[in-house]
Amino acid sequence: MQPIAVDDLISAIGGVPNGLPAGNPDVTRICIDSRQIQVGDVFWALEGNNFDGHDFVESALKQGALLAVVEPESYNLERTIQVADTLMAFWDFAEAYRRQFDSLIIGVTGTVGKTTTRHMIHSVLSNKFRGIESPQNYNNHFGVPLSLLQLDDRQDFGVIEIGASQPGEIGDLTEVVHPEIGVITAIGPCHLDEFKSFENILRTKAELIERIPKEGFVVLNGDDRNVRKIADNADCSVVFVGERSRNDLVARDIQVSNNLVKFRVDQSEFHVPATGRHHVTSALISIAIGRQIDMTDSEIQNGLNSFAAIPGRSYLRKIGPWTVIDDTYNSNPVSMSAACRTLQDMTTEGKRILLTGDMLALGEWSEDFHHLLGEEVTRAKIDRVIAIGSQAASVAGSARQHGMDAGCLGIARDHEIAMLLLSLWLEPDDVVLVKGSRGTRMETFLPRLEQLA
Ligand code: ATP
Ligand code: MG
Repeated sequence: MQPIAVDDLISAIGGVPNGLPAGNPDVTRICIDSRQIQVGDVFWALEGNNFDGHDFVESALKQGALLAVVEPESYNLERTIQVADTLMAFWDFAEAYRRQFDSLIIGVTGTVGKTTTRHMIHSVLSNKFRGIESPQNYNNHFGVPLSLLQLDDRQDFGVIEIGASQPGEIGDLTEVVHPEIGVITAIGPCHLDEFKSFENILRTKAELIERIPKEGFVVLNGDDRNVRKIADNADCSVVFVGERSRNDLVARDIQVSNNLVKFRVDQSEFHVPATGRHHVTSALISIAIGRQIDMTDSEIQNGLNSFAAIPGRSYLRKIGPWTVIDDTYNSNPVSMSAACRTLQDMTTEGKRILLTGDMLALGEWSEDFHHLLGEEVTRAKIDRVIAIGSQAASVAGSARQHGMDAGCLGIARDHEIAMLLLSLWLEPDDVVLVKGSRGTRMETFLPRLEQLA
């Protein structure tokens, strides 16, 4: 972060100072986790699901924090700035901080593919320009402002991931980010327990498009009919990308091999070192943005060459004699469809095995979506399926109904039973795709597979 004087921080958030250090020192780092405090940091006391930062203010100050931003009723210590609501103040500060810079800001949202696409856009643009991207999976009401604080006056661009788990969240965060370019990767069922209806999901995603200024533009997955439904909300120009010919940027002659996705746009050939056809969408979005900011196709391709998959997301690994696709980061109906397709497209002499944990947060529609998955695995001709968790029987029952051999289906109550079954089935050259929602902790299968190898 670029240093900012304490006085300027106070005027950005309108707080009441209490016994501040003399001499209007510079703030060089904001920290929201007292365990990571470094001397000179500003500690921002925020309330999370599992903690309240106000409980750690004293310890943060003792560890050398320059000062802390707090709510008055909870704290009355020296070296604090008191504000009515620390989260609102955090957003105000991040917004004011971002507005100092004229870096081109790209906001990326969607039900799936935000991190993948954000990282690919960053890889492409970095071939010609200097820029930042959200770290890890920082896309919520804490992560978005923290991402913006990486900006400084040397950065030409920033790619910021914006997530939502409830209505209104994307609108609020977009007003902090002020992107000139908006991206929507896909819209599907996710966090239905919080959103309550699909309409609410559409509405929330539209909040990004509506906030892109006239002189900016949005890049939308034009093959996704849900995304198309909200495209009219844009006040700016819209670029549709996809495989279908009605899009503005169309990927043709797509060829997918185990670790490369190739296609053509107009007369130019592109390729991405990645596993799974769904990377075409992220690549098209990156190409659309690269071209709009005057990168040549060969500069864009050089950027695509430097893209590297992130563990947990279609991440190809060799473990012993098997090929493993680590897709353990998360799961929902849209990314699960993409995963089935990825497994179907894998070239191998062995079997294709899907190890799936529950797709969580689907509310009252959970069983229906797991039924659909059973149908999908059958259609994708996956050789073996092991389903784990409370919806395992729905997946297996539906696969059975759609014609999959019962001997190729496993229902596992827990990870141990799943691993036992997997070890009986595994043969050299098999491809195993491991996937499940965050709460199902499917990543624990990776060390188990290493042990087995
Ligand atoms: P989160 O909301 O958890 O931050 P995200 O939107 O950032 O997720 P990624 O982390 O990029 O999404 O990917 C999540 C899952 O979706 C992974 O399994 C990945 O392989 C899959 N995925 C990525 N891009 C797409 C896409 N365009 N279409 C379908 N699935 C995708
Ligand atoms: Mg993400």
